[in-house]
Amino acid sequence: MKLPPRWWKAVDSERADTVDVKSGDAMHVAGADAAARIEGAAGAGEAAASGKGRNTKAAQCSLCIHACVLTKDKSGYCGARFFDGEALVSPFLGRFSSIAIDPIEKKPLYHWRPGTEIFSLGSLGCTMRCPFCQNHGIAQPERDEQRALSRLREIEPEALAATVLRHKLNSVAYTYNEPSLQAEYILAAAPLLRASDIATVLVSNGMYSPELLEELVPFVAAANIDVKTFNPRTYARLGGSLDTVKRTVARFHEGGVHVEATTLVVPGVSDSIEEFDQLTAWLASISPGIPLHISRYRPAHRFKAPPTPIPLLERFAALAKGRLKHVHIGNVPGLR
Ligand code: SF4
Repeated sequence: MKLPPRWWKAVDSERADTVDVKSGDAMHVAGADAAARIEGAAGAGEAAASGKGRNTKAAQCSLCIHACVLTKDKSGYCGARFFDGEALVSPFLGRFSSIAIDPIEKKPLYHWRPGTEIFSLGSLGCTMRCPFCQNHGIAQPERDEQRALSRLREIEPEALAATVLRHKLNSVAYTYNEPSLQAEYILAAAPLLRASDIATVLVSNGMYSPELLEELVPFVAAANIDVKTFNPRTYARLGGSLDTVKRTVARFHEGGVHVEATTLVVPGVSDSIEEFDQLTAWLASISPGIPLHISRYRPAHRFKAPPTPIPLLERFAALAKGRLKHVHIGNVPGLR
């Protein structure tokens, strides 16, 4: 697929600080540090062109808040973008591990085209590292890149609209893993989808660089954004940034994107009633009409704590309903 990664620039290798993901080592640049570093990577889109073809020693990616500096054959924090010695490469771009038709409510989006189905695409990699990832089996790339690639199906951006129309659908969700890792594909496909009246939807952690966020706004019709906690230190420990997710939700809403938010209530991580209270107050300050999904955690990936107690979810929902018009409990059969 001829879709070169954008949002990177050539840098001196002395600044390199990424690690060899294939060896199992892991770097964790997160939170305020990472958010600050993205400023240094600003303008990488234009710089990318000048970096290509030179004998570059490292590449700095500016797709997300991590602003990774990659040396040859090393991956960024996401495990999805690499530096081949000359250019940043993104082998999973336009290649999908999961392709399905889902009810829109499964995203979850309850207040945008309810009762419809959506063509759903997922690939590999994530820009956060939640130890309780509920999609771990899909989202995490295998160490063996060739093996990972062999189980992906390529869909050219030009072919996507026809595929969606063949199924008599009118929306596409980038979901299951972190969709911003498909940003170049999303932005190539979105105008073609729009020309066929097909909407673009993201289900995302929202850890975009400011440049990427601005490029996405005009093309995204609806999004469900994870707001994992309202504690900035906890966010940083998960590989994210509270300030960044706040910026994404606010900017999408301001830009006319239909936004719904999801908070997974994880015991010992995001089950503080005080922090959740602050979260609902902040969300209501943007708009009390933004739907909030309070989702039940189940043991997954590296997290073994028992599932979130249902009475706690009901307490959270009662609190949220004092400020927000649309509050839903998710992952509990019979409750909504
Ligand atoms: S997209 Fe990947 S390589 Fe780029 S900054 Fe984010 S984590 Fe690093």
